[in-house]
Amino acid sequence: MEKLIQVKNIHSGYHKKEVLKNISFEIEEGEFLGIIGPNGSGKSTLLRSLSRVLRPLKGNIYYKGSDLYAIALNQIARDFSFVAQDTQVNFPFSVWEIVLMGRIPYLSRLQPQSAADLKAAKESMSITDTLKLAGRQLNDLSAGEKQMVIIAKAIAQEPKVLFLDEPTSHLDIGHQVKILNLLKGLNRDKKITVAMVLHDLNLAAEYCDRLILLDNGSVYKSGPPGEVLTYENIEEVYKTLVIVNKNPVSGNPHILLARKNIP
Ligand code: ADP
Ligand code: MG
Repeated sequence: MEKLIQVKNIHSGYHKKEVLKNISFEIEEGEFLGIIGPNGSGKSTLLRSLSRVLRPLKGNIYYKGSDLYAIALNQIARDFSFVAQDTQVNFPFSVWEIVLMGRIPYLSRLQPQSAADLKAAKESMSITDTLKLAGRQLNDLSAGEKQMVIIAKAIAQEPKVLFLDEPTSHLDIGHQVKILNLLKGLNRDKKITVAMVLHDLNLAAEYCDRLILLDNGSVYKSGPPGEVLTYENIEEVYKTLVIVNKNPVSGNPHILLARKNIP
């Protein structure tokens, strides 16, 4: 079977400044993929490149076997949903209005939302437990509530692929787990392929089927968490000492910081 997304020798960056160097990998349909790496290693740049937000300087990306840039934009707008790291909304939209915006790729010009659009929006708010926030303004919500609403909007779009950039940073552990469990459930029940940048290595180990570890714009290692999150790989890429144990419940790697002796 054709891979869902194929990345072939891409170089990406900004104003000719190359950030990603010669990256190749594939994403399978139904996969739950994590992208990890130190600050500035190019994780967000890679996610933007995969999702057609940022056109690579060189190389090709294929979606369902076709060149990503040869596919009609409205098709990509339906199939791909992108949750950015810090969503800012500079207008007092209500939560309901924000979630309905997820349906924009399905509307033709000046056409009001259909019953199916309203149903998809309501359902996504029900799954994310945000119906109770419907009348509130997005900017008045807590970080955890806000992130749930942004994810509700992304789900209302009924995407095939969901890209998320550090969806759980700034959230407490309860909200981190709530969001990742929700994404895992969508991946399993609605067969949404998930590609996500994660900052927290332990969350990445616990939730992702496969990890891509970036180092300075290149893929340092890719594979299941047990193969990628070894102390050798982490120490080399993050330049810090760690101890890698096994999570006693899941058997996944569990990373502990090891403080160097302070002189
Ligand atoms: P990460 O998400 O891993 O922290 P990024 O992909 O955001 O890394 O950044 C990788 C490099 O690209 C950094 O050197 C950063 O300064 C640069 N960069 C990121 N976004 C932009 C941008 N919009 N314009 C110019 N340079 C950028
Ligand atoms: Mg980033």
